[in-house]
Amino acid sequence: MTKPSIDCDLLLLKARLATMSHDTEIIDDNACVAIAGGHIIYSGPATDAINFRCETIIDCDHRLVTPGLIDCHTHLIYGGDRSNEHELKLKGAAYAEISAAGGGILSSVRATRDLSEDELVISALKRLDPMIAEGLCTIEIKSGYGLSLASELKMLKAARRLEGLRPISVSTSLLAAHTLPPEFMSKDAYIDHVCDVIMPEVSRLGLADAVDGFCEGIAFSKDQIRRVFVAAKAYGLKVKLHAEQLSALGGAAMAAQCEALSCDHLEYATETDLVAMKTAGSAAVLLPGAFYFLRQTKAPPVEMMRKLGLMMAVGTDCNPGTSPLSSPLVAMNMAMVLFGLNPYEALMGMTRAAAFALGQGQKIGQIKPNFKANLVIWDCENPAQLLCQIGQVKPYTRIFEGRSS
Ligand SMILES: [Zn+2]
Repeated sequence: MTKPSIDCDLLLLKARLATMSHDTEIIDDNACVAIAGGHIIYSGPATDAINFRCETIIDCDHRLVTPGLIDCHTHLIYGGDRSNEHELKLKGAAYAEISAAGGGILSSVRATRDLSEDELVISALKRLDPMIAEGLCTIEIKSGYGLSLASELKMLKAARRLEGLRPISVSTSLLAAHTLPPEFMSKDAYIDHVCDVIMPEVSRLGLADAVDGFCEGIAFSKDQIRRVFVAAKAYGLKVKLHAEQLSALGGAAMAAQCEALSCDHLEYATETDLVAMKTAGSAAVLLPGAFYFLRQTKAPPVEMMRKLGLMMAVGTDCNPGTSPLSSPLVAMNMAMVLFGLNPYEALMGMTRAAAFALGQGQKIGQIKPNFKANLVIWDCENPAQLLCQIGQVKPYTRIFEGRSS
């Protein structure tokens, strides 16, 4: 009997394969992955049963192969930086004092409004390139430093343009409900503006894949965010929320009722929040960079998330003020050290769980047939080696949509 013969564009051999399709760590040594048309067509044991015809073959030499990394929570597009605020914080300045001195989110708003779309793209590439060099293949980018129609559109357009400039997939979120802009005296009036002016235009132009909000004492209430989410749903947009970061407001449970893709931060999340998220199928997104940089002491309830079987994603939260972090590998390391994830859970956080948090769990984040051929071959053997050695392990090869880059 003749062996079936299949043409492919790229074939990986002798891989130590972490497909991330298993809930606990399983690595198949001596595996192979076949890629055609930018998608995976086979992954698993090297088999004599199929004859792959392929011009390009990579011998992985028993290196770890994982899905391409996914950062499901960033504020990558912004003007200026807020490095000067750290010393003020060390001297004991409270957040309110820093804001009064012209710092905080509103200082990023001013700096972002001052830049052109081109300038925003150039500054974002400086942060994106090191992330791509660490194996990132998909990134979520939020608006939220514009807070006016023109500036929010400018940020989202700049985010979308990155796809054409680098081998990366971009998912965008409208975060107009980030903080109160200086032009508005009333939070309710600004929420009306977000729902009635900004969101319709963003939707018409197809610039956002989801709508985000910041539910916190220093930002917006649960009821104000609910109004944003109801409007988003009317435009067919999925929602997600910055919730329970600094206090317990029940925003996560409210977001879950609106079928949120994810609730992010969650340091103060209660069991009620997490149960509602599990019921709704919302992912928990852990952001250890912000926890670290703000020197927070209350970690998110990871053990309860585990018991409930919530998807736990990990993001860099790359932003100029509270998480100036452009390293997916360091974010995963922090999730292990600060929040108690094991190496496989941390890797899951930036692969399959992150894909789930973006509503793309059936396309990316795992190495299996019909998924996009986004992969990383690492110069190490297992997730523990990859994530415990800070700054020591880099990609041997990164493959984006079937092509080495
Ligand atoms: Zn954020």
